[in-house]
Amino acid sequence: MAEKNIPMSKEQLEALTERFPTPFHIYDEQGIRENARRLKAAFAWNPGFKEYFAVKAAPNPYLMKILKAEGFGSDCSSYPELLLSERVGVVGEEIIFTSNDTPAYEYQKAAELGAIINLDDITHIDYLEENVGLPELVCCRYNPGPLKGGNAIIGHPEEAKYGFTREQLFEGYRMLRDKGVKRFGLHTMVASNELDRNYFVETAHLLFELVAELSAELDIAFEFVNLGGGIGIPYRPEEEAIDLAALGQEVKALYDELIVGKGLKPLDIRMECGRMVTGPYGYLVSRVLHKKNTYKQFVGLDACMVNLMRPAMYGAYHHISVVGKEDAPCDFVCDVTGSLCENNDKFSIDRAIPQVEIGDLVVIHDAGAHGHSMGFNYNAKLRSAELLLREHGEVVQIRRAETVEDHFATLDLEGLGAFDV
Ligand SMILES: *Cc1c(COP(=O)(O)O)cnc(C)c1O
Repeated sequence: MAEKNIPMSKEQLEALTERFPTPFHIYDEQGIRENARRLKAAFAWNPGFKEYFAVKAAPNPYLMKILKAEGFGSDCSSYPELLLSERVGVVGEEIIFTSNDTPAYEYQKAAELGAIINLDDITHIDYLEENVGLPELVCCRYNPGPLKGGNAIIGHPEEAKYGFTREQLFEGYRMLRDKGVKRFGLHTMVASNELDRNYFVETAHLLFELVAELSAELDIAFEFVNLGGGIGIPYRPEEEAIDLAALGQEVKALYDELIVGKGLKPLDIRMECGRMVTGPYGYLVSRVLHKKNTYKQFVGLDACMVNLMRPAMYGAYHHISVVGKEDAPCDFVCDVTGSLCENNDKFSIDRAIPQVEIGDLVVIHDAGAHGHSMGFNYNAKLRSAELLLREHGEVVQIRRAETVEDHFATLDLEGLGAFDV
């Protein structure tokens, strides 16, 4: 069971809305730090273990600074993400640049920062060499495709646009070796929002075996394997978080057998999780604006899908609490909606929640990853603020809400008068 608590009382939240109007996202620093420490502890047996936080999950430099303090690097996949990482002082091999369909200027920035470049395709070897030059250390992204003998766990990676095939991987590392690259890493990511830890054990298994084969065939040594991101979070109260300590021990058992046991050089375990790092520690706080009773019951919030797109986009479940009514019976079945002129702008459909009143505060849970960052401006909706609950209880604003001036900043409204029609 995943408990869906709010780290503030009703009184504290109400007081906060006087300083910061709803809707807003608020992150819990203590939760983020404790979770980061659990992940590190699970892999403490591996001296080179490192988690590169997938910046896209929550691209806020204040959160990134907290994660840097916990020893995490950055997983970037675009130029602005690289700039954010640079800004918080996460540079060099503390960055892994795991991109795809990448323009040259992004590789250039990654190289300038000394980031580990993780290539998505065999043709990117020449592209990188011609546009930037090859660095000393290169990582390649493996797509295991339709695995021989089948792999019940990993599913159908051949449908994914990412990574090298197995044959391309052997050819790619050979090319890199012959072009003078000296240091190597191997990456794959085959799961997303996965709560079965066997996926990640199986990923480690695949990579450890492949490292042995590639090393033997090409006479190269690998410094690290990157298991990717994709560790899920229990969005539903009845779901269970991944047992990180057990995952760490199961990967260790495979490491002892397949790396140490085969006399291979020590290998660092790397990860690039986003969702599990900040997801459960972010809350979207909103207020009930309207109640409507037509063919169904509707509860309209002052937040909408631009603040949290996952329910509308994937039908994803996000738990909803009515503040102050946490222990009330859930006997009111309704759709909880936003105000976009899109009927899929709903945070939940036919959900039983406590009896709500206009003006109640509502908290949407697990919005700390792929939440604010997936925001958009359709219907000219403005993005909300991001707040941080510090460990000692103070709340600070880490991103202000957008204004209409921000929204119109890319339009030349001055020039409109001289525009003849
Ligand atoms: C999205 C992504 C991640 C992070 O995924 P989470 O589900 O947030 O852990 C990591 N690596 C790559 C390459 C990604 O595309």
